[in-house]
Amino acid sequence: MSEQEFKRAFGYANTALDLLHRGQIPPYPQFYELLYTYATGVNPLLNARINAIFQGGEAPDSDLAAKLYDEFLKAHDANERINSVSERMSHRIEAVHDAIDAAMVTASSFSSTLQTATGDLEAEISAAELRAMAQRLLKETRRMQDTNRKLEQKLEAARDDLSALQRDLDEARKESMLDPLTKIFNRKCFDEGLVKAMSEAATYGEPLSLVMIDIDQFKQFNDTYGHQTGDQVLRLVAMTLKSNIKGKDLAARYGGEEFAAILPSTDYAAALHVAENVRKALQAKELLKRSTNEKLGRITASFGVASYRPGDTPSSLLERADRCLYAAKHSGRNCVVGEIGLAAPEHSGKRDPQEAA
Ligand code: GH3
Ligand code: MG
Ligand code: MG
Repeated sequence: MSEQEFKRAFGYANTALDLLHRGQIPPYPQFYELLYTYATGVNPLLNARINAIFQGGEAPDSDLAAKLYDEFLKAHDANERINSVSERMSHRIEAVHDAIDAAMVTASSFSSTLQTATGDLEAEISAAELRAMAQRLLKETRRMQDTNRKLEQKLEAARDDLSALQRDLDEARKESMLDPLTKIFNRKCFDEGLVKAMSEAATYGEPLSLVMIDIDQFKQFNDTYGHQTGDQVLRLVAMTLKSNIKGKDLAARYGGEEFAAILPSTDYAAALHVAENVRKALQAKELLKRSTNEKLGRITASFGVASYRPGDTPSSLLERADRCLYAAKHSGRNCVVGEIGLAAPEHSGKRDPQEAA
């Protein structure tokens, strides 16, 4: 990073901190990012919105900041970020390419100067001619040094830039696997993880289990306390699930208010146990509304558990777990139902699509 770039970035950082301070907004990374982005001015729509808020005399508190973050930054989809990284990378490579071309032209002209000088030296040469030649060579050498120095600087800047880009790319890649709301793995990652886990179970003859989870009466909860509080509950469920699994297990948000856990090297009995632990942990949590400390009661969830059988496909395994989940809902919710002992489906094990979130 050049000194000028450093100063500029530092200026943005100061502006962002100043705005956080003025609005009494907690300096959490997402709010800092929001106001840093504002300071850079790269997102005119965001700036127009924030300017209107300042002009309207509205205090930009943390609720408003969260809303703006969701609207302008969170929605920034991982693919878009990957595209922007590739674009920056290709500009950087072009610049290095140009610098190398320039250096090659100079080097070749330097080489012909040296060749001419060698030829001249083979002939008779006067002292004055020799002096002129020395001066010419000195001038050409300086030019060569200068071009090389520029190339070196460009290469150095490219190296720094490329490692920053590499970090951005890694981050974007990680983000593309996560559900933006709950920060656990998303559906796409779950689907890929299930295929991989099933192929490993088949290869190594290891057990593998699947737990499907659906929050109970969540519509009613949303209707009573609002969608934003509902979103907080989704985060809580995700965290509870994540903290009750370990190692190679994969917890994902399967859809709206449905979650799933892939449990490799876990047999049916152990999977029932994991599901029961999550169920109890969730039930034990008393919900409090953050802004007002208002008690919101408790939420529960229903669980379906199935284990891999040779010959299973991802959809056959999912269907059995899903059928168990459906049975759990029917036997009063807030319980774990496993596939053993569950009657086989008459036609299809799929739940009524109306019931799925
Ligand atoms: P059941 O116990 O039978 O599962 O009842 P339910 O109300 O949980 O099920 P239903 O499928 O009728 O409703 C699911 C609700 O989940 C509806 C929707 O408002 C809520 N939901 C889905 N996705 C989200 C989300 O991203 N945020 C919030 N806050 N709510 C969501
Ligand atoms: Mg539900
Ligand atoms: Mg549902």
